[in-house]
Amino acid sequence: MTEAITKTVTAEIVQLHQQVFDGLKMAYDRAMDIGKILSESKPKLKGQFVRWVEEDLPFAVRTAQIYMEVYANREKLKSANVCALSDAYIYLAEQKKPVEPSEPEKPTKDTDVLEPESRPAKTDPAKDSADQIIPNHLVGIFARATELRSEAAIVNAVLQRTKEAKKIDDPLYMYISLSMLEAEIGNVKRIFNQSLPFAVCAYCGGRGTDCTTCKGTGWTTSVGWAATPEEMKEF
Ligand SMILES: [Zn+2]
Repeated sequence: MTEAITKTVTAEIVQLHQQVFDGLKMAYDRAMDIGKILSESKPKLKGQFVRWVEEDLPFAVRTAQIYMEVYANREKLKSANVCALSDAYIYLAEQKKPVEPSEPEKPTKDTDVLEPESRPAKTDPAKDSADQIIPNHLVGIFARATELRSEAAIVNAVLQRTKEAKKIDDPLYMYISLSMLEAEIGNVKRIFNQSLPFAVCAYCGGRGTDCTTCKGTGWTTSVGWAATPEEMKEF
């Protein structure tokens, strides 16, 4: 191609890209494994499933639901050539689009919302942080909150590495002000955390259409939710 770029550089990029792809594929396969185990364990736990996830597993019930949903749709995802988790969320959300976001069957407000086992083919409804059922067309965006969380985790890792370097008096870090960095990274983390999908918009019930409060998105952040009057929250 061009003289300035050697074959070695090109080959290196190709190889690294393959590693990125392999990493995504591996994460996807492991998510599928978790989904399988969760799906198989659920019937054995009669009524204790939610508690088990909440108390013993390192992720939220919503995440468990997503893993199981990905597993339940494995054949569909396979034929759609999906091999990354983020693509699976988008694909599954797309699949549900024609379904009206009308309130599904009202769950009873106890811990066993995920039961009973009478609907094996259908996964249980995902809920937002305010315990509202997330309309199908918004499930994908709520699931993708993890992407923003990992951005915040990346900047946090920069802070941690700098702290370590300061601790051992690494001369290269001599002129870096830890307090200033801490404040700035704190701001960056706040920007990401405050922008996470938190709840379905109470003004439009998630429909988004013509909603000026959520600007058509159908969802709101924790800040937006806190500013929502209590009487609006019972939709
Ligand atoms: Zn709205």
